[in-house]
Amino acid sequence: MADNAVIVGAGVIGLATAYRLAQDGLAVTVVDGADGESGASVHNAGWIVPVLSAPVPAPGMVGQALRWMTRRDSPLYIRPTPRPEHVRFMASMLRYCRPGPFQHGVAALASLSERAVPLFDRYAADGVRFEYHRTGQLMAFQTLEAMRRYQAATAPMERIGHPAVPLSGDELRDLEPALGRQVRAGLRCPQERHLDPVDLVRGLRDRCRELGVRFLQNSPVTDIRLRGRAVASVLAGGEELGGDLFVLTAGAHTGRLARLAGCPLPVQPGKGHGFDDTGGTVALRHSVYLGEAKVAVSPLSDRLRFAGTMEFGSFDTAVDRRRLAGIVRSAQEFLPGFSPGSAPRGWTGLRPMTPDGLPVIGPLPGKDNVLVASGHCMLGVTLAPVTADVVSAYVAGGRQLSEIAGAVRPFAPRRFLSGRSAATAGSPAASR
Ligand SMILES: Cc1cc2nc3c(=O)[nH]c(=O)nc-3n(C[C@H](O)[C@H](O)[C@H](O)COP(=O)(O)OP(=O)(O)OC[C@H]3O[C@@H](n4cnc5c(N)ncnc54)[C@H](O)[C@@H]3O)c2cc1C
Repeated sequence: MADNAVIVGAGVIGLATAYRLAQDGLAVTVVDGADGESGASVHNAGWIVPVLSAPVPAPGMVGQALRWMTRRDSPLYIRPTPRPEHVRFMASMLRYCRPGPFQHGVAALASLSERAVPLFDRYAADGVRFEYHRTGQLMAFQTLEAMRRYQAATAPMERIGHPAVPLSGDELRDLEPALGRQVRAGLRCPQERHLDPVDLVRGLRDRCRELGVRFLQNSPVTDIRLRGRAVASVLAGGEELGGDLFVLTAGAHTGRLARLAGCPLPVQPGKGHGFDDTGGTVALRHSVYLGEAKVAVSPLSDRLRFAGTMEFGSFDTAVDRRRLAGIVRSAQEFLPGFSPGSAPRGWTGLRPMTPDGLPVIGPLPGKDNVLVASGHCMLGVTLAPVTADVVSAYVAGGRQLSEIAGAVRPFAPRRFLSGRSAATAGSPAASR
């Protein structure tokens, strides 16, 4: 077993992993290209939502995106770009939009997200300080038809203790009077949680520091030095960092890092937009999903956070004013009292997407001392502590790993290798 670990990427996945490995007794260094307060892990809705454990590639998804291609404020957009990795990624994703792979993905994700809420409860009990809400979630729809689609999609999650109870428009307004009359139906998901993602990242970082984790910020990893089947060191901000074990948790950039380590992975960005409102024109108790608009709203102690949109094809993090305006319009449609005052300052986050919509967690094929934990798509916050537990089991090996081997197989990075490369990449770590 490794004594020390270098974790590349201080987003929520890297931090949760650092926290877990430090608890396991490893000496941990976390290296990040930025200051740790940017990226998807602070720019998201902060929902812990096992009830939404369905892969993004779903039957009908690409057709919907193509129909929306001409609308610059649409919630889903595929940017036409000739970048070969993007073209390959979209072609591959199309294959996963069939009912068979989708159902397989739902089952795999459900088994992973089943433990999400108890693990967050344990964070809070263990002294990780962050703003955490147990009020549950509401989904609001303007048509019965849209509500029934989500009801069907969330039904399998009842089995893992995350029901979605149908409500009429009036029943929803009893719970959240700010919802407008055009909201006709909804779902109440009492087991879901939400949190302040900025606070979570800070809380995890503080707790890691208390456990002795070393942080190197503003130090992008630009090269990876190999020694045979192992990574010997990474070059980060002019420093060469050696280690027994390397964990790649670089979000949407993980595919590029994996390539530097000798095995590219199809992790591509799914850009989202959002803004924070402190005007106080509407008050909410629950996190609310504005169904047809695909917008998430999270009431936090000092602001209301709105998040949405998914754009494939670009690593660019600039705010697109038209997409932001689309979120504001949707908010006003569902919450008629909402007024943002002046045009809100927006933010963006790049979700780490995979073609099958499942995270990539496990040994990097062909390397004996590299683990990957990325590709969490829309569920990176929800799945952060569970992912850290899976990484911990890979590090420990033996019984700890064999107990979960079946459940985590769907997430193994080697699923993306072609048959021949998979045969040549077999490694002690990969086959543990
Ligand atoms: C609008 C939006 C709403 C969302 N809402 C939710 C939600 O409600 N619930 C939920 O569960 N998920 C949600 N998500 C998804 C979630 O935010 C992501 O899945 C998650 O943040 C991914 O975390 P990460 O740590 O893998 O990546 P990131 O947060 O991107 O962190 C990766 C880190 O790696 C660093 N890095 C990159 N390259 C290098 C390098 N070469 N060297 C060193 N460091 C590097 C980056 O600086 C960054 O700090 C949402 C995402 C968006 C965009």
